[in-house]
Amino acid sequence: MAAAAAAGGALLALLKRGGGRLRWNVTPYRNSWMASPCVFKSSKPEALQNLAKDGLTYAPLQTFMEEELMIKEMVKKFAQERVAPLVQKMDEEAKFDESLLQELFERGLMSIDLDPEYGGTGASFFSVILVVEELAKVDPSVSLACELQNTFSTKLFTSYGTEEQKRTYLPRMAKNLVGSICISEPGSGSDAFSMKTHAEKKGDYYIINGSKMWISFAEQAGVFFVMANANPSAGYKGITCFIVDRDTEGVHVGKKENKLGIRATSTCPVTFDNVKVPETNMLGQFGKGYKCAIEMLNVGRIGIAAQMLGLAQGCFDHTIPYLKQRNQFGKPIFEFQGMQHQVAQVAIQIEAARLLTYNAARLAETGKPLIKEASMAKYYAAEVATLTTSKCIEWMGGVGFTKDYPIEKYYRDCKIGTIYEGTSNIQLNAIAKCIAQEY
Ligand SMILES: Cc1cc2nc3c(=O)[nH]c(=O)nc-3n(C[C@H](O)[C@H](O)[C@H](O)COP(=O)(O)OP(=O)(O)OC[C@H]3O[C@@H](n4cnc5c(N)ncnc54)[C@H](O)[C@@H]3O)c2cc1C
Repeated sequence: MAAAAAAGGALLALLKRGGGRLRWNVTPYRNSWMASPCVFKSSKPEALQNLAKDGLTYAPLQTFMEEELMIKEMVKKFAQERVAPLVQKMDEEAKFDESLLQELFERGLMSIDLDPEYGGTGASFFSVILVVEELAKVDPSVSLACELQNTFSTKLFTSYGTEEQKRTYLPRMAKNLVGSICISEPGSGSDAFSMKTHAEKKGDYYIINGSKMWISFAEQAGVFFVMANANPSAGYKGITCFIVDRDTEGVHVGKKENKLGIRATSTCPVTFDNVKVPETNMLGQFGKGYKCAIEMLNVGRIGIAAQMLGLAQGCFDHTIPYLKQRNQFGKPIFEFQGMQHQVAQVAIQIEAARLLTYNAARLAETGKPLIKEASMAKYYAAEVATLTTSKCIEWMGGVGFTKDYPIEKYYRDCKIGTIYEGTSNIQLNAIAKCIAQEY
């Protein structure tokens, strides 16, 4: 526990050492794949205390706690210095750099809002969203590692775990244990609760059988959170969540998918063949797995919104300097009004996505209802990421279409935002359901 606490506390220790002295060194645009020197020209955040001094009672959404601002700055620097040099290689090789994954743990980025008692950093949930956004600006794959661990895996324990489960798993999850969420199956995607995987009680154990599909980070995972129906006659009310250690007999991780985007993340089928888990590995109540999946997905969607927002901003930040450098018809192409209007329209939409995302995150933090707001943020941020990346390729012309710049990678990476943690249609369904209840 002490070691885990030390690892998880690294982020705060770093922040303390920085003591606000963390500076944004404008790195020369060494090569086109390095992070843009123009990151965050838009949307300047401000620390809360400055505004309080100005006598403002209600803070704008882009107002952060001092600690949140420091975390954001630290991660921005980390993403530029440590992540950016690896992005192209990880994408081409479709492989997550192992030392980078370990560094995410060591810096406390895999347990951001986890209580220091369990080895976490103890920062706010909003900090998680800022970290995901910052990382996605440079690499959406790396941001997904943090997103899933922080908004889903550790949250499952803190929300539903027994004290013993928390003490057994959380310190390891803050140190080096990756968790993977197993909900989807070959026959049940959007209709997730029609899953066929089942768990049968045998004395003090459950025997799990079934096949899961599309499981993110299954290659790296040390523990799986498996949704299985333990009482099929009760329909979805039989779905129960089980903690399954990777090395349990009968767990098989299949070959990873060869994907369009977020290629550094592994996405694999996982089968459970007579997997025996003790009853004490049930996470939450019997038959309440559907409820915990829904609740986790609601929060997770804010994380995906942050990923898409960061991706859109990162792509935009790479593109604008090029538009100002590239001359046609005797002047920079940015100076054509036909370009400027398009750029302004995309900038507005990125900003709107940011506000939706930050608002949903603050709602989550205060325990307020967020289903509609989280779905809106996720839906809209994915749309904006799709538009932004597509426009950026057009604006850059031929070079945007090549692998000399990361724009085409953002374009490939953004598509997943309309699919996982509920497709765009499923978000619209959820939003419409809320509206129906409001009137
Ligand atoms: C890279 C990647 C990573 C993933 N990671 C995980 C993970 O870690 N864990 C996990 O459990 N799952 C994961 N998933 C699975 C993901 O959540 C599903 O792919 C997603 O829920 C959609 O399911 P599906 O692919 O079966 O599509 P389908 O459900 O077959 O949908 C196909 C189309 O039909 C539409 N549609 C379906 N139902 C409706 C409806 N009622 N109304 C309107 N339109 C509808 C959808 O919007 C979509 O356009 C991942 C998927 C990918 C691609």
